[in-house]
Amino acid sequence: MKILDDYNFANKKALIRVDFNVPLNENFEVTDTNRIEAAKPTIIKVLEDGGSAVLMSHLGRPKGVRNPDLSLKHICSKVSEIIGVAVKFVDDCVGEKAEKAVAELQNGEVLLLENLRYYAEEEKGDEAFAEKLSKLGDIYVNDAFGTAHRAHASTTIVAKFFPNAKCFGYLLAKEIDAIEKVMRTGEKPILAILGGAKVSSKITIIENILDKVDDLIIGGGMTYTFIKAQGGQVGDSICEDDKMDLAMDILKQAKEKGVNVHIPVDVLAADAFDANAKTQVVDVDKIPAGWQGLDAGPKTLENFKKVILGAKTILWNGPVGVFEMEKFSKGTIAIGNYIDEATKNGAFSLVGGGDSVAAVKQFGFEHKVSYVSTGGGAMLESLEGKTLPGIAAINE
Ligand code: AMP
Repeated sequence: MKILDDYNFANKKALIRVDFNVPLNENFEVTDTNRIEAAKPTIIKVLEDGGSAVLMSHLGRPKGVRNPDLSLKHICSKVSEIIGVAVKFVDDCVGEKAEKAVAELQNGEVLLLENLRYYAEEEKGDEAFAEKLSKLGDIYVNDAFGTAHRAHASTTIVAKFFPNAKCFGYLLAKEIDAIEKVMRTGEKPILAILGGAKVSSKITIIENILDKVDDLIIGGGMTYTFIKAQGGQVGDSICEDDKMDLAMDILKQAKEKGVNVHIPVDVLAADAFDANAKTQVVDVDKIPAGWQGLDAGPKTLENFKKVILGAKTILWNGPVGVFEMEKFSKGTIAIGNYIDEATKNGAFSLVGGGDSVAAVKQFGFEHKVSYVSTGGGAMLESLEGKTLPGIAAINE
């Protein structure tokens, strides 16, 4: 795996694919700078080596149209402030103007190109467009994990024009390392905590992960499909009847593979899917009609706590309750606290995939776990065992 430290950028122009797809308010001010900060170490390394950085990114979904609201010029001053260098901007990302701006770039300088998705060719992975991009640097650096699962021109195709001069930036390397730990190299016992709403959206992950983990905690809305499949009463809880066979099959596979599956034994049930609903704690397989399980119960959390504190490597994907409502957020908060404790005791913990990060941030756990992934879709696909095109393109 080629990483940034394999290269010295002195007198070189690094063409860096970053993920500056940041949220803007109505005054076009950046409201969340995380992604810019995450790209900073890579940019600084290039500059400190004595090279220059050409940054390319998409912003929003202009779909091939030059929508001025989605110009990257809006974020240029914020990038300058964060990087600590006055960032230059060119209002195109390919062609004469962009090439001229790159030619004029001096060592120690940073240039931000205009939104890649002003060209429809970007998302199509157009080869001619990728070749034009490749003229804008000596070494290609991919540091955008959030788009690594897309075979776009700037994330994947462009790499072929740098057969001997391409590498991962620090951020992308960190993401790959975190996934590797969970999937291959992590210390045992390895635990995956899978929550969220539906079995159907997590099935590929579960199937892939059964070969990698020692323990699997299943929580959240997925629980009820497993409970009903085993003959339990789930009341009005969310349940995918057509996935019950699949649930039984997962349990069978887990047994064959020696994976310990931990499913809730009790739940906080509510008489409506409502923030002010009446609640009671009931056994997970005896939920009365008219009631639905919306969070993990106290016995369940005690069980989960033991498993989490015993784990050396932890993946957390998906909340164990409807965390958006305060009444049903306690289980998810408890899980976060147990992971925090396990991490302090030396476990490696990774949170990521889909919307998992939202729950983690809402409760302030992002600095308590070892690593929070920056790419929802890309992390999901990695956990499903897929090879991401953006990663493959560097390794080829
Ligand atoms: P996912 O995107 O699949 O990770 O699902 C996250 C969503 O699952 C969150 O919005 C939660 O509110 C929801 N969820 C978690 N537990 C339950 C439950 N017991 N019943 C319904 N929805 C749930």
